[in-house]
Amino acid sequence: MKLQILIVEDLPYDAELMALRLRDEGIELEYERVQSEEEYLQGLANAPDLILCDWHLPQFSGKRALALIREMGHDIPFIIVSGGIGEEAAIDALRLGANDYVLKDRPARLGEAVRRVLRDWQLRKDHEAAQEQLRLAERAFQNTAEGITVTDRDGRILSVNPAFEQITGYSREETLGQNPRILKSGHHDEAFYKGMWHTLVEVGHWRGEIWNRRKNGDVYPEWLTISAVKDAEGETTHYVGVFTDISHIKEAQNQINFLAHHDALTQLPNRALFHERFSHALMHAKREEVSLALLFIDLDRFKTVNDTLGHPVGDQVLLEVSRRMSQVIRASDTLARLSGDEFVLLLEEETSAQHVGVVANKLMQLFSQAMHIGEHELVVTASIGICLYPNDGDDPDVLIRHADRAMYEAKQQGRNTYRFFTKALSEGAFERLMMENHLRHALKRGELTLHYQPQIDLETQQLQGVEALVRWQHPEQGMIPPGLFIPLAEEIGIIGDIGAWVLHTACQQVSAWDREGFIVPRIAVNLSVQQINREGLIQLVTDELGNSDLLPERLELEVTESMLMRDPDLSRAILSELKGLGVKFAIDDFGTGYSSLAYLKLLPLDRLKIDQSFVQDIGRDDNDEAIVKAIIALSENLGLEAVAEGVEEEGQAQFLKAEGGRSAQGYLFSRPLPADQLCEAWRKKVLSNVE
Ligand code: C2E
Ligand code: MG
Ligand code: MG
Repeated sequence: MKLQILIVEDLPYDAELMALRLRDEGIELEYERVQSEEEYLQGLANAPDLILCDWHLPQFSGKRALALIREMGHDIPFIIVSGGIGEEAAIDALRLGANDYVLKDRPARLGEAVRRVLRDWQLRKDHEAAQEQLRLAERAFQNTAEGITVTDRDGRILSVNPAFEQITGYSREETLGQNPRILKSGHHDEAFYKGMWHTLVEVGHWRGEIWNRRKNGDVYPEWLTISAVKDAEGETTHYVGVFTDISHIKEAQNQINFLAHHDALTQLPNRALFHERFSHALMHAKREEVSLALLFIDLDRFKTVNDTLGHPVGDQVLLEVSRRMSQVIRASDTLARLSGDEFVLLLEEETSAQHVGVVANKLMQLFSQAMHIGEHELVVTASIGICLYPNDGDDPDVLIRHADRAMYEAKQQGRNTYRFFTKALSEGAFERLMMENHLRHALKRGELTLHYQPQIDLETQQLQGVEALVRWQHPEQGMIPPGLFIPLAEEIGIIGDIGAWVLHTACQQVSAWDREGFIVPRIAVNLSVQQINREGLIQLVTDELGNSDLLPERLELEVTESMLMRDPDLSRAILSELKGLGVKFAIDDFGTGYSSLAYLKLLPLDRLKIDQSFVQDIGRDDNDEAIVKAIIALSENLGLEAVAEGVEEEGQAQFLKAEGGRSAQGYLFSRPLPADQLCEAWRKKVLSNVE
């Protein structure tokens, strides 16, 4: 790069001479000559590297030129090149900031002067820059949020910054000369520090998480980077440690971990954490050859609480339940919420069957006290299933399944009780699980169909109606009878959807037959207990009758006594309202439940269906024959029609007819058939009768 020189000189010849001199000395340059203040200012705007200035000029002066650059804050090397100006002026010039003074009549000195001035100037600039760098580094050191420690090669602390003081609680004065060991928390073993030093020596730096102790004794995690500082020879002279306090990050992490492993509502361990703890406890128990007990606790009819009182109340119930249970468990026990209203309790001490029974009783007692939630007073009972390790299995999943199975058994036994797992229970448990998974999808996959079974008039042999019976065509297991999956559907809460589909399909089928000219006088549809509990039932029936254009009298809903007895008042209200629409009602499986005649009389019923267990024993069991007779008599008294179910033999039909029974249903007349087969078979029958 050529040196850019601004020459302040009125004589062009003198300026050229200066340039020649400098070029002679090997300095490459370009120059601009100015002689007035105005030109000078313009020249300055081009940022020259050097100013060579005459002292006396006709229109300008060296003194003025110096004053101007000072005023404007320029930092440009400045050399006076003039005739003799006298000692005083020379001193003036130097004081004003000139860097050197060369006499015009001693031009030989010019080159050297320029070199020296430029060198000094450069040195000064470098120094300033270094100073600025230092100032910046110092400011960073002072103000950064990271704690910084500088030690000598022996680990003595030479310097710490304010963040260090703030994080550790030690002041600068307290730490200088000390070893960073003063921060040791005792959380790491020798091997940890050894590894750290090894890396530091080998690689030159170490980075990692380390637990240290503040002056006040608190242990905290920090993220630390230590670097070795080496001199030109590669010898380590210092170590610099930079660290951040990551306790808040850790807290956030812990928080996340907590959330991932706990149930947000009750704060109890969730399924994931329970699994972890359970597996751990099992491993321990195997090693120590001790036993464990697992209690599977499921609230009874919790869904009804949710459905009728709303989820906020349901949540409060769950909270109260978990609070109560938490109060009685010991530190060695683990209570977790698996989902919804399912809790598990793992006992690791005192796990004899006898003691666990005591615990289960204690839990049930807790439940038996009424809860007050808002204006509601509730008694929430629970069914408890218990299994023991090693008796009932040694795998966490198996044990949970077995406890679940025992809980299911407790439900079957009428709820609000506990049951121990037994081998007999395990059979079928797996199938049940598989089925449950499939059943959830059966409806939308179109795996459900309806079969129809005729009900005939014993006197005239005419078709009175058909009963719709749902079938599940399982892709692998084939046809699954409703007796197997209807209870399951009720339990997992999807019976409502299935029931709605059945009603819809049955009504549509009858009107389709109508259009084909095949008249089925009445369609009977089975209801499930959960449908009776639903407000939606009336709406559903109204809708489906409307959709299919069916006269309400052609629809008969089958209910059982036990279904109605669950909530007699509600059932009666619902039945009455439906009856108002014109719908018929039949009591299904009559004779198997505990009926209250007084109650039956209050219900708007049309028919009693004599349970097939009695019918099938006609001709074999006197007692059952007596029952059948009694039921027929009873229904006459109540003004109801008796329908015999499960008639398989001609003799049974004869008996029923003789006793005054009007209608019957059974394999003797027809098995339940798909819609098209039923239609075809029945048309044929009608034709053959006509012949
Ligand atoms: P249910 O209402 O008492 O239905 C009569 C059952 O007896 C039917 O069994 C039918 O196939 C069977 N059956 C008919 N005639 C004879 C016979 O002569 N001998 C013998 N041994 N059995 C005969 P299925 O279809 O297996 O239904 C069993 C139960 O499942 C039904 O009993 C009913 O309670 C329930 N169910 C069926 N479909 C539905 C439905 O759509 N919704 C609801 N909630 N339950 C249904
Ligand atoms: Mg039925
Ligand atoms: Mg029946």
